[in-house]
This record gives sequence, C-alpha cells and structure tokens, in this order.
Amino acid sequence: MSQKRIAIFGSTGSIGTQALEVIAANPNIFSVEVLTAQTNDELLVQQAFKFKPNVVVIGDERKYTKVKDALAGTDVKVFAGEKALEEVAALDIYDLMLAAIVGYAGLKPTLEALKNGKPVALANKETLVVAGDIVMQTAMEKRVPVIPVDSEHSAIFQCLVGETRNRIEKVILTASGGPFRGKKPNFLVNVKRDHALQHPNWTMGAKITIDSATLMNKGLEMIEAKWLFNLKPEQIQVVIHPQSIIHSMVQFEDGSIKAQMGVPDMKLPIQYAMAFPQRLPNDFPRLNFRNMNTLSFEEPDVKTFRNLGLAIEALGKGGNMPCILNAANEIAVYAFLRNRIGFLDMTEVVEQTMTKISHIEAPTLEEYFESDGEARSFAASLIQM
Ligand code: NDP
Ligand code: MG
Repeated sequence: MSQKRIAIFGSTGSIGTQALEVIAANPNIFSVEVLTAQTNDELLVQQAFKFKPNVVVIGDERKYTKVKDALAGTDVKVFAGEKALEEVAALDIYDLMLAAIVGYAGLKPTLEALKNGKPVALANKETLVVAGDIVMQTAMEKRVPVIPVDSEHSAIFQCLVGETRNRIEKVILTASGGPFRGKKPNFLVNVKRDHALQHPNWTMGAKITIDSATLMNKGLEMIEAKWLFNLKPEQIQVVIHPQSIIHSMVQFEDGSIKAQMGVPDMKLPIQYAMAFPQRLPNDFPRLNFRNMNTLSFEEPDVKTFRNLGLAIEALGKGGNMPCILNAANEIAVYAFLRNRIGFLDMTEVVEQTMTKISHIEAPTLEEYFESDGEARSFAASLIQM
C-alpha cells in the first residue's frame, strides 16, 4: 500500500508537532509532503531535514532567505508569505491536509485544499466558526471529508461511525472548565497571562489555552459542532467534566448515549483523523478504570464565564455573528497575552464588537472577510483606549 501523503499547515505548533510524532511512529503509512510555519524558521528547517517534505512555506516573508539558505543543497522547495500558503494548498502533491494553523489565518488555505478536492483533517476550528457554511458546502460539492481533530468533535465523529441512518437527538460537548473552574469575577479580574496559560489537563498553543480559560473555546466548539454535524443550536449541550476522560457524547433518538473516552492526549484524535477510517496500533497511555476515582459533571457557569454566553448568542444569531465574535476574540486574546488588557476585558471587547458590527444573515465569502476586518479594527480601537 502506498503511503498517505500529508500536508501539515502549522507544523511547528502544538498540533503540528504531535502530528509529526504520529508520522514518525508510522513511516510506512504516512509521508510528509508539505510543512508550514509562520515565524519559527528554526523548527521548520529542523523538521524539513528530518521529514524531507516536497515543499515548506514560511508565512513571514522576512524569513524566506534564512529558510532558503538553510535548506540549500536539499530537494525541498521553499516558499514564503500568506499567498504561498494558499498556492501550496492548491497543489496536487498531497492526499490529506492537516489544518493546524491557529486562528482566522487557517481559513483560506483550508478552503483552497477543499476546492482542490483534498480531504482535510481539521484542527483549526476558527475556520468553521468564521465561514462554516461555505467551508462545508465546498467540501460537499467536492465530495471530500472534513475529519475533525478537535478531541470533542473527534469523539462525536467516532460515536457516529455506523450510525449514518440514525438521527442525532443531541450532542453533549464536555469541557474541562479550564484552570479557573469555580472561580468568580472578583478572582478573575486579577488573573494574569502566566496563570491563565496553565491548563490543568492539556498542553496546547497559547491562543487555545486562553480560550479554554475563558470558556470561549467551548463556545467556538459549539459552532464548530453545528457545521461538522449539521446540528441546530438547541441540539448542542455543554457539560463541565473536569477529568477530561469522556471527550464528548452523542444521544440518539431512542435515548441511547454513546461516549468516546480515553486519557487526554491529542495524539489520539490526530492519529485517528490522519488514518481514518483505519485505527492504528500505538503505545499511547491507556485508561485504567481501576485507578480512576470519579467522573464528575456540572453545569457551566455562563454568568461568570460570559464568553461562552456570547458564543451561544452568536451561534443563535448565525450569519456573520460567529465571524465577528471570532475576530474580536483573536484581537482580545493577543492583547491579553501581551499584558495589554485584563482577563475580564476580553469579554468586554468581544461583546462591544458584536454590538457594533452590522449583522448579515447570509454573507458571501467576501462579506465574511470584510466582517472579519471590520471587527478586528473595531476591537483593536477599543484596546488602544
Ligand atoms: P500553536 O500556536 O501551537 O501553533 C499554531 C501553528 O500555526 C504554528 O505552526 C504557527 O507557526 C502557525 N501560525 C500561527 N500564526 C499563523 C499565521 N498567521 N499564518 C500561518 N501560520 C500561522 O496552535 P495549536 O497547535 O495549539 O492550535 C492549532 C489549531 O488547532 C487552533 O485552531 C486550535 O484551536 C486547534 N486545536 C488545538 C488543540 C491543541 O491541543 N493544541 C486541540 C484542539 C484544537 P509558528 O510556530 O511559526 O508561529
Ligand atoms: Mg477541544
């Protein structure tokens, strides 16, 4: 059997590096055709030497010469810039894109892959939050799958195998609750970047770690679930499950609930998405029920973690509202990471931007791009004040 040729967009990130571990452990099954980074040229070059891809792309054009020089004498083709990410996604040199860029920047290359008829293993949830209708429509027209990598959505996807004819009554997305579960606004107001970056169960990139601390991540995941599984907002429920053992659940029309479980380790959903429909043997840690004390569940506190409430509002309004929410949130999170605004200010920025930018019920792709731009400028203007 020939190897599956993988294009990893965002190979230097948390998902990207774990995907490369999976590939390294299965050299007969996968090969690496494309690697991309934004600024981390050193790691990109190191990865290129190890995995010998056909092409690498460095997003930051100022680093082009450095990467080009470092890879001189190899067969690796080097490109740079935002446009190059889209152009490489449109090449017919790979079998599966792993979309592991963070944020809105992942949208265009992922759309390009789908237009090119390439299946996508999707970690980049923001792509679906921003323009889920267009992304899923493109995948449908081209008859290519979008296979979720996000652990909750991978869980749902796994629960749905063999259930194509059976209607989903609802999905239950589990959330760890993040590092500040149970805390109140008087505590959160003083939370600093370094504290918020310490997630109890998962080691991830900075942006999603902050989103997990504010529960925005779960809101983005509700929107992601809507598009992936064609659900109505009222079919998506969030439950806090601090142990992160049950990764999510599906309830069918007969009331039966399927859950997917395992120790929290992103390598499993990454491997599953890359190898789908096959399950590959591995030596990842196993869950031992005899050592497990409790699995507990509680309602999310949307009064304190208002970002989740705002995301639910955006999900209900639809159209460009999730795109606006996402853009404002990206600006707010990066401002918080640079110690420019406080933890609770992030919610203010998102809420005010959602009120300010006009709602469009059924936007075109161009209108999504415009809404993103407008929301970013407005959110940034709030932070300057
Ligand atoms: P990281 O920040 O660790 O990595 C992001 C990757 O994208 C890096 O390769 C980075 O390059 C690249 N990148 C950053 N900005 C840009 C840009 N503007 N244009 C092109 N490339 C860019 O993120 P994660 O791996 O944590 O997350 C990736 C995606 O997966 C996110 O959408 C996240 O929500 C989702 N996800 C992540 C999980 C996790 O466990 N980490 C779990 C579930 C979903 P460089 O290194 O050079 O900056
Ligand atoms: Mg998740």
